[in-house]
Amino acid sequence: MSVIEDLAAQQGFECMGTCSAKDLVARDEVRSMCAANLCQMYEHSWSCPPACGDIAEFQQQMNEYEHCLVVQTVAEMEDEFDFETMAESGERQKDRVQDLAEAIDAAGLSAEVMVLSAGTCTLCKECTYPDAPCRFPDKRLVSMEAAGLVVSEVCTQAGIPYNHGPLTMTYSGCILY
Ligand code: SF4
Repeated sequence: MSVIEDLAAQQGFECMGTCSAKDLVARDEVRSMCAANLCQMYEHSWSCPPACGDIAEFQQQMNEYEHCLVVQTVAEMEDEFDFETMAESGERQKDRVQDLAEAIDAAGLSAEVMVLSAGTCTLCKECTYPDAPCRFPDKRLVSMEAAGLVVSEVCTQAGIPYNHGPLTMTYSGCILY
C-alpha cells in the first residue's frame, strides 16, 4: 500500500479504488454541465468554473500523475427522502477529503499530489468571489466535476461502484499521485 493509500485509509472512507491517472479524461461536456448552473455555484466560487481553471489545464496537470485513488463516503438512508443523511454524508466526505489533504501536506507530499473533492468549497461561510482574493488558496479544493471528470466513469475505471445500491448515498473524491 502506498503512503497516500495508507493516509486515506486512516480517514475512514467506506470504499476506495485505484486506477491509472493516465486514463483520466477531463471532458468539455462536464464543464458545459457546470455552466448550466444547476448547482448555482458557476461563477460563484474560486473553487468552481470558470475561476478554477480551464479543462485543458486540468488535463495537462492530470497527465503528470501516475495513479488515481478514488475515495468514497457511502451512507445508508432511511428512505429516499432522507435529506438529513444526504446532507450529513456530503459534509462528512468534504471533511474527510480536507483532512486527507492536510495529512498529505503534513507528510510533506502536497507538492506531489492533486486532491479533488466533491461539490464546491465551503471553507468560508460566504466565498469572496469575485470581489476579493480567496481567503485560503492553499486549502481550497476543486471538485472532480469542476476538473472535468465524469465521476461515474472514474469509479468504473477504479473498479468500484458509483452508486452502492437502493437507499444509499455516495460521494466521491480522488487523489492523483
Ligand atoms: S476558501 Fe473561502 S474564499 Fe476561497 S474558494 Fe473556498 S469559500 Fe471561497
